[in-house]
Amino acid sequence: MSDLEDPLYKDWVRSALSLKYLKEGIYSFVDQFAKQHHSNLLLSYIKGTGSPATSCTECTSENLMPDHPRHRCIQKFRSKCFCNNPVGRRKCPNNFCSRFYDLIVIAHDERNPLWINTDPRKWYSDHWEIAKCYLSTTGYSEHGTAADTDAAGLLSIIINNIEIRNYVCSIDNIRKVRDIRNDIMHSKSFQVDQSSLYQYIEQMILVLQDPKILVTDVAAQNAVLKLEKLKRDQIFISVEDAYEMRRHALKAGEDGVKKIEKTKDEAIQQMETKRKEIHDDLDSRFDQRLLEQNKEIKAETIRMQTEKNEFESRYQTAVNEIETKGKQITDNIDAYFESRVNDHENKVDDQSKEISGCLKL
Ligand SMILES: [Zn+2]
Ligand SMILES: [Zn+2]
Repeated sequence: MSDLEDPLYKDWVRSALSLKYLKEGIYSFVDQFAKQHHSNLLLSYIKGTGSPATSCTECTSENLMPDHPRHRCIQKFRSKCFCNNPVGRRKCPNNFCSRFYDLIVIAHDERNPLWINTDPRKWYSDHWEIAKCYLSTTGYSEHGTAADTDAAGLLSIIINNIEIRNYVCSIDNIRKVRDIRNDIMHSKSFQVDQSSLYQYIEQMILVLQDPKILVTDVAAQNAVLKLEKLKRDQIFISVEDAYEMRRHALKAGEDGVKKIEKTKDEAIQQMETKRKEIHDDLDSRFDQRLLEQNKEIKAETIRMQTEKNEFESRYQTAVNEIETKGKQITDNIDAYFESRVNDHENKVDDQSKEISGCLKL
């Protein structure tokens, strides 16, 4: 029995094929408005600077510094912004890419562009390199056109770009189809039951018949016809189709794993940076504390020395006073005794004289 004789597997292949038709129905729409968005960004540049943009091919994801100041980062997660790691970065020498970087951030619905897929050297000349900033996943660096981008990528660009999302009435429908795409492409069993397949196709048709623009778009309506045929089982599914869909799904799985690994690497990198920051902060606080303590010890030593000097000076003064007092007392005592002795001697003399007088009588 061929794999395609298993209805669950066959319906998985049909659901994967429905994504291919969806992509065929929306890529020219996304391309058209991505082109318009690029022109509008160039106009915003003129409004902001007062002069037309100059072409630049010197800036890369490694050397470009955004225009916004680091302490007022405009990106949702500063850790993902070029300003987060300033080493080796400088503002655009042609006064273009740094300003354009900020305009790209502002045009993202969550101010959270993904820079890994884009090449800033092409920002001036290639509208698709700007559109790629609004993708949600990695793996599109080599995909240079809308036609070369899968349904998931195109849906992300519609959801994330504030200008392009204005050309659809229901972003909610787009989000639902993006979730459907993930269910199909990340299916481990490669099985889909028929009612799910029908539901997937109906949701895709809702997107392709969005009343704002797509309902009148020829490519989108051709895709609707193909999807309806697919639903009615009027499209022959070959072994080659099955092989191609499976290959796409496996590739999507690989990209998912790569993305997880990259996210893990980024998380480790962020933790390392944070750890270093904390370490440096602790070191600097410790140094500061040590400095303060040294200052305190020095001040205390000076204070104690001053106190000691004062004490010694007071002690010396007291000793001097005591010595002076003692000398005065000694002098007084000496003078007193001397006067007493004199008095006594005088009295003895007087008495002697009196006695001599009496004897003469
Ligand atoms: Zn920033
Ligand atoms: Zn530049």
